[in-house]
Amino acid sequence: MPNTDQQDQSKERYQAFIQNSSEGIWRFEIDEPIPVSLTPSIQIKRMYQHAYLAETNIALARMYGFKSVKPMIGMKVSDFLIESDPQNRAYLEAFIASGYNLSQVESHERDKHGNDKYFLNSLIGVVEDGKLVRAWGTQHDVTDQKAAGQALQLSEERLKLALQASSMGLWEWEIGSSELYWSPELRKIYGLSLSEPVSFEMYMSMVHPEDREMAGSIAENSMKTGETYQFEHRIVHHDGSIHWLLGTGRVIHENGKPVRMIGTSMNIDSVKQAQELKAANTELKTERAELLALNRAKDEFIALASHQLRTPATAVKQYISLLINEIAGPVSADQLQYLQIAFNSNERQLRIINDLLKTAQIDSSLYTLKKEKSDLVSIIRSACEDVETAFEMREQKVVIKGLDKAVLNIDVAEMKLVFVNLFENASKYSYPKTTITVDVRKSGAKKLEIRVKDQGVGISKQDRTRIFDKFTRVDNELSDTVSGTGLGLYWVERIIMLHDGSITVESERGKGTTFKICLPL
Ligand code: ADP
Repeated sequence: MPNTDQQDQSKERYQAFIQNSSEGIWRFEIDEPIPVSLTPSIQIKRMYQHAYLAETNIALARMYGFKSVKPMIGMKVSDFLIESDPQNRAYLEAFIASGYNLSQVESHERDKHGNDKYFLNSLIGVVEDGKLVRAWGTQHDVTDQKAAGQALQLSEERLKLALQASSMGLWEWEIGSSELYWSPELRKIYGLSLSEPVSFEMYMSMVHPEDREMAGSIAENSMKTGETYQFEHRIVHHDGSIHWLLGTGRVIHENGKPVRMIGTSMNIDSVKQAQELKAANTELKTERAELLALNRAKDEFIALASHQLRTPATAVKQYISLLINEIAGPVSADQLQYLQIAFNSNERQLRIINDLLKTAQIDSSLYTLKKEKSDLVSIIRSACEDVETAFEMREQKVVIKGLDKAVLNIDVAEMKLVFVNLFENASKYSYPKTTITVDVRKSGAKKLEIRVKDQGVGISKQDRTRIFDKFTRVDNELSDTVSGTGLGLYWVERIIMLHDGSITVESERGKGTTFKICLPL
């Protein structure tokens, strides 16, 4: 152990040595020597209080951010060594326990700028008369390594956390051996307990039968080529539930030979579910687009077909009328009867064609109303006149009650069609000699209510909900005797709705039906 005398003898050599050393070299003197008999914690406390730097070199000064040695001389241990850090306490305790001769122990300190520094220290204490009087030591800076170590530790921690969070399991297999390591996460993924033994055969038996061949050949191929593989496959838990996994694996070579395989597995059930949902959604969207296209095509067909049918049917009507009216010469009673039948059939045919055309027109995106201020009561009267033949045929009476005039912003032609249809229905579905009442009145300041009431067969409660549907005919006592398409009420409702109004129905079987239309004034 060196003492001050020896040091004096080789002062020059010593000075040259310490100043040129890349290690930090220091000498601490203790201004109040510390009895070695004191407890370690008291000794440590005193070291902080009474040890001061008496000698050092430029390498050490630089480690603490100083440009020269001078300003450091006289600084206390507590100026560098962080007293609150348990690592430093352990370091000094080890120094005492070692009999004041310790090597390669790490300390946590602070430089001049307050930056954290880590040093690896070797130090020797000088004990005189049972008291520690000074200490010599060398140190080198391990801050960078420490930071790298901490970063590594941090990344390992992060990896661990990531593995846990992503529920990624790890496996390792010594090629050829029956030994297989499965991480706890992997066991969880496979629904296995921590104690259950695992083997390659067991893994294979848990792979879904349909994916087994693929799993085997992928691993085999990777062993041959040395390439990393990644594939999705299903596994079957002991409880029978099926799960999707993303597996990766690669071969580790040592001295050019494949020795080990390592890999990961991750549960991707949620990813698969999302994919399936997305696929289903895309399918639905395609289906919807196809349906819309089909619907459009159907509407176009109906519009075109009915338009093409209407012209010849109208011509037939005109020519039969000419014959009936004996414009082309007299007709016999029998002939007249046949012509009348032909005329009626043609009428029905035209009605059907018109219904189809109206529906196609209303469903078209190009359909618009041509609104103008008009008197609805006049429109109702005019509609009534159009159905006069039907009323007369069944000897039905029509009574129009309420307002004499009601001016609204409406499409006259369309509104007339609405009432023609309602009157035709009221007539068709009522027995002869009954009365149809139309009542027009205001409801508050902003609404007009029109009721078309008949004394007909009525509509049951359950049928009332479907009569406004397209192509819906409801059978009743009279429906066999009259023609219809099941389209009238469909477009009636559409026209009313396009006028920002509503149509509802009240009815009692055998007593009659009332259609109530509300329109904004
Ligand atoms: P269509 O009269 O051509 O069958 P609608 O759409 O006009 O078609 O009417 C649908 C159904 O509603 C009819 O089949 C009929 O059963 C019923 N219905 C309509 N109006 C009345 C009414 N005033 N009285 C009884 N039933 C009616």
